[in-house]
This record gives sequence, structure tokens and C-alpha cells, in this order.
Amino acid sequence: MDFANKTVVITGSARGIGRAIAEQFAGLNASVVVSDLDEETVERAAGEIGGTTVGFKADVTKAADIDKLFEKTVERFGRVDIVVNNAGIARDSVMVRMAEKDWDAVLDINLKGAFLVTKAAARIMMKQRYGRIVNISSVIGLKGNAGQANYAASKAGLIGLTMSSAKELASRGITVNAVAPGFISTQMTDALPEATRRQLLERVFLKRPGSPQDVAAAVLFLASDEASYITGQVLAVDGGLSMS
Ligand code: NAD
Repeated sequence: MDFANKTVVITGSARGIGRAIAEQFAGLNASVVVSDLDEETVERAAGEIGGTTVGFKADVTKAADIDKLFEKTVERFGRVDIVVNNAGIARDSVMVRMAEKDWDAVLDINLKGAFLVTKAAARIMMKQRYGRIVNISSVIGLKGNAGQANYAASKAGLIGLTMSSAKELASRGITVNAVAPGFISTQMTDALPEATRRQLLERVFLKRPGSPQDVAAAVLFLASDEASYITGQVLAVDGGLSMS
């Protein structure tokens, strides 16, 4: 795969899975926009990744930030070929004790954020008659999980958004797919209690946590020209966890 002359925007990409996606795209000659909450962090990440990478700050819950993100991207690179909706958070607790603000925060970032970004990106991609959108969902969105009702709802919603936007945008040469990672080693899963990590790992058939690079490889495939006949699909990258 080669992404020369392709411009990629990845939300929440200063660290973790988003960062690995940015690194792999940069390694295959793409022009990469690293985007996250903090100006200094995105600039540092862009510098470390190298190649043709820039860092633009954007909070995905703010429509004005997103408009600016795409304005700056088009100003810098002239187009937007690939967008990865990766920004996401978890605020776990059992449902009967879940605070309304934790429900709202997770739905706002994980689902509404992806809607706002998709809407802004699609306007540009429709004019180009070309685009690839990849949404980072989760196996939790496929199966649910005790203690993660807000997160599961947001990630299941993201699958609905994926299929609906795939149907709406197909005639304009835009594909929209989702990747559903399982248990991936990042700061998000480092924060889980040891017992939860152990229980999760017991259900992973390949008997190891995934790496951010494992997820990135699937994202790059779905964003490539090799995947031009694939749209509206959910690809699990989970070592078999969703079969358990
Ligand atoms: P992470 O916490 O390491 O990284 C998430 C990034 O998103 C951070 O850099 C954070 O600053 C950024 N972010 C948070 N709120 C934002 C906002 N409002 N606007 C812009 N950026 C924001 O997490 P990760 O493990 O790398 O997760 C990346 C994605 O993968 C998330 O959507 C997550 O739900 C999903 N995922 C992760 C796992 C896993 O096991 N780690 C499994 C399935 C899905």
C-alpha cells in the first residue's frame, strides 16, 4: 500500500491507537494531520512522527473546532482523502450508579464527535468524489459489557452511523467502514483493574492483548485503494474475543 498524495486526518491521535495509525500512514508516504485536545501535544507528536505530518488541535465535541481543523487541512494540503474517527473515552460504572454526566461525556465524544467530523469531512469528500472514512468502534459495541453501558451504546451507535453514512455517501465514491478493536494495550486499558484485565485476556483466543499497530494495520487496509469495494462493514481486530 502507498498513500503518497493522500491526506489523512486522525482524531485523538496524540497517543495510543490514533498515534499508531498516524505513524503507519506517515510511513507509507501520506500527508498526516495529527489532531487532539492539546496544541503542544499534537505539535510534539507531529514532530516525533516526522514525514509530512502536522498537528492541529481540535476537540471533536466542538463543531467550530472541527470546521477549523478541516479548513486548516485543506489550506495546508489542498484536500482530505481519509478520515479516521478515533477520539474516544471511557467512564465506566454499573448502570444503576452511572452519573448522567458520564453518560453524556462518553456519548458526546465517542458518537456525536464522530457525527460532527463525518459531516464536515463528507462535504469536502463529496466535492472530490473520493473519500475513505474509518470509525474506531469496539467489540463492546457488538456485544455490550457490564459496567460499560455508556461506552457500549456509543460504540454500537457508531456502527449505525457507519452503515447509514456508507449508504448515503457511496454514490460519491466515499466508503465508510468501522474497525472494532478488542483488548488493546494503551493508556485506556492500562487504567483497568488487574482482575478485569485478566478476565478479558482469558477470553482472547490468541492469548495476548492486541497492540495499537494491530489496529492500525486494519485501518490502513480499509483506507487503501485495495479496499475500494468494501463499505459499511465492521472488522473486528480482537484476537477472537468477540467469538467468546
Ligand atoms: P487513549 O485514551 O490512549 O487515546 C484517546 C485519545 O483521544 C487521547 O489522545 C485523548 O486526548 C483523545 N481525546 C479524548 N477526548 C477527545 C476529544 N473530545 N477530542 C479530541 N480528542 C480527544 O485511548 P486508545 O486506547 O488509544 O483509544 C482510541 C480509540 O480506540 C477510542 O475510540 C477507543 O474507544 C477505541 N478502542 C480502544 C480499545 C482498547 O482496548 N484500547 C478497544 C476498543 C476500542
